[in-house]
Amino acid sequence: MQMKCVQVLEIGKFQLTKVALRKPLDHEVVIKVSVTGLCRTDLKLIRVGHRDLVLPRIPGEEVVGTVCETGSAVAGIQTGDLVYVYPGSWCESCSACTNGSENLCREMEIMGFHRDGGFAEYVVVPSKSVIPVPMGLDPDKAVFAEPLSCCLNALELAGIREGMTVGIWGAGPAGTLLSRAAAAMDAHPVSIEPDQRRRGLIKGYASSPDRRYDICVVAVGSKQAYQEAIQKLKPRGRLVVFSGLSPADDLLEISFNQLHYLEQTIVGAYGCCYRHGVQALDLLSSNAVSVVDMISHRKPLADLKTALELVEHRKGMKILLYP
Ligand SMILES: [Zn+2]
Repeated sequence: MQMKCVQVLEIGKFQLTKVALRKPLDHEVVIKVSVTGLCRTDLKLIRVGHRDLVLPRIPGEEVVGTVCETGSAVAGIQTGDLVYVYPGSWCESCSACTNGSENLCREMEIMGFHRDGGFAEYVVVPSKSVIPVPMGLDPDKAVFAEPLSCCLNALELAGIREGMTVGIWGAGPAGTLLSRAAAAMDAHPVSIEPDQRRRGLIKGYASSPDRRYDICVVAVGSKQAYQEAIQKLKPRGRLVVFSGLSPADDLLEISFNQLHYLEQTIVGAYGCCYRHGVQALDLLSSNAVSVVDMISHRKPLADLKTALELVEHRKGMKILLYP
């Protein structure tokens, strides 16, 4: 059977095409894609490549859909189930996997990066990666589970606790979800975002007020934001490196004496674990984290070019694509 998809053949170029839908292996399931989320990483992946990208590739790491075929060894998942796909496939035996950080598995394969993703009518995924969508949760909300999971990983690494103050640089989709997730954990988020339109969904400031935070998370790929955030940490504060920087901006000068005397921590955060997907779906299902107002555009997959331009020029908030 042939399916419509978007395929990246070389960096900077993608095409709408048809490819053969392969049969699932014993431990795989075939998902009929209901909706995929578009994010800034997809733009980066298509335009300039990514550390984890292997070509040719069908991108798309935020997927919700219906199981339509199961491999011979699959148990507990049935045809017709509405599921969210945790985008990782992990080895289950390396030290990262056994320590509960399978996002850092040495054999990690990410859907849309190492293996084909959801910018297609169907996607074949390992059965262990699927998580049932809670009853009553709309697919358009459930698809936020992926970006929200990455925020939950970041806040977990930050050691977030009730009552903490959290400075968040950037109020795009990730920054907005970080703010809402922090609020759902009874912490006090403060967003810093120079773009007034972007601040529309959450209260925030164009630049950081004169105060310090228990946690600073940088959700914008800006060296200046990192330099400012590290100065805004309280003693014992943690800076979370959530957004990557362009290679030209990768090296920052920081005061190790500041870290030493104020007992501060810098921690990286990349991706998410399976358990964050389960948590994210819970938060979305209970409406502890609301997302409907974040959906700025709904587009057919065939309009990917236009959708990418919206992301590039930061004209939308969250853009959802339908095959
Ligand atoms: Zn592993």
